[in-house]
Amino acid sequence: MKPQKKIWMDGRFVPWDEAKIHVLTHGLHYGLTIFEGIRAFQTPKGTAIFRLDEHIERFLNSAKIYRMDLGYSAKELKKACIDLVRSNPAKECYIRPIAFTGYGEMGLNPLTSKIQVAIASWEWGAYLGDTTKKGVRATISSWVRIDSRAMPVQAKCGANYANSALAKMQALSAGYDEAILLNTHGVVAEGPGENIFRVKDGILSTPPASSGILRGITRDTVIQFARDNNITFYRNDATKEELYTSDEVFFSGTAAGIAKVREIDGRTIGDNGTPITDKMAKLYDQTVHGKVARYLKWLTPV
Ligand code: PMP
Repeated sequence: MKPQKKIWMDGRFVPWDEAKIHVLTHGLHYGLTIFEGIRAFQTPKGTAIFRLDEHIERFLNSAKIYRMDLGYSAKELKKACIDLVRSNPAKECYIRPIAFTGYGEMGLNPLTSKIQVAIASWEWGAYLGDTTKKGVRATISSWVRIDSRAMPVQAKCGANYANSALAKMQALSAGYDEAILLNTHGVVAEGPGENIFRVKDGILSTPPASSGILRGITRDTVIQFARDNNITFYRNDATKEELYTSDEVFFSGTAAGIAKVREIDGRTIGDNGTPITDKMAKLYDQTVHGKVARYLKWLTPV
């Protein structure tokens, strides 16, 4: 990670190296952190943040689920993101708002902890690296996606990512690029940090929110693209064999972008071409870079 100049922390900008917390910070011990992942891109009119409103709304909803009073309005948080990107050197960056139960109290009741809020930004290439273009080799994980009866998956809570990290490690150790997690009902949920789409006979589909997935903002973007381009689209469950026999499969996420899957557990996907994935990936790339007039509404200039 290449250090930037500033980090926004508890209402003010501090130098990158000074954005520190105590080792006895409550959230570090019990996983009570909520966060977002947002990206800013270069556009013909300068750097702009993609779907900032929706990310901040999800951040506030994560806080609400965990009963964290952040003490900042959506407007203040958005302004902090914009000012941060403006004051850091990167022209394209990843933005990470995080809130956590702070230092001062220990024990499982988080309600006595003060809440700390920070926002950092840094340069971050495609999360799945080269494979984003080449195609990802994925494997169905033996780790089951956390069930929202145990942990609310709609809250982007740090603790959820222990489940994601187990699946990711297992996939990498087995020589794959990424994991696909099934839910407690045995149907496809999502990747460790991405949603998943499939195409069969020209029909695009993705698991519904009730499958225990994070309602991704990139997922929503793809759904809008499908609607606007008259691509037949459904939210429906898929078994793993339905994934194996799909014509096309791709991941979607802020960090990953639109990443084509070329193999799942030794079964080749997309060997007859991936027209819908390619269309979505191209449209996404053009949209985030401010080249599609109808989607300029999703970009907040900094
Ligand atoms: N699922 C999980 C578990 C994630 O962490 C993410 C990344 N935030 C996504 C899906 C994709 O969400 P988005 O498109 O909003 O980045």
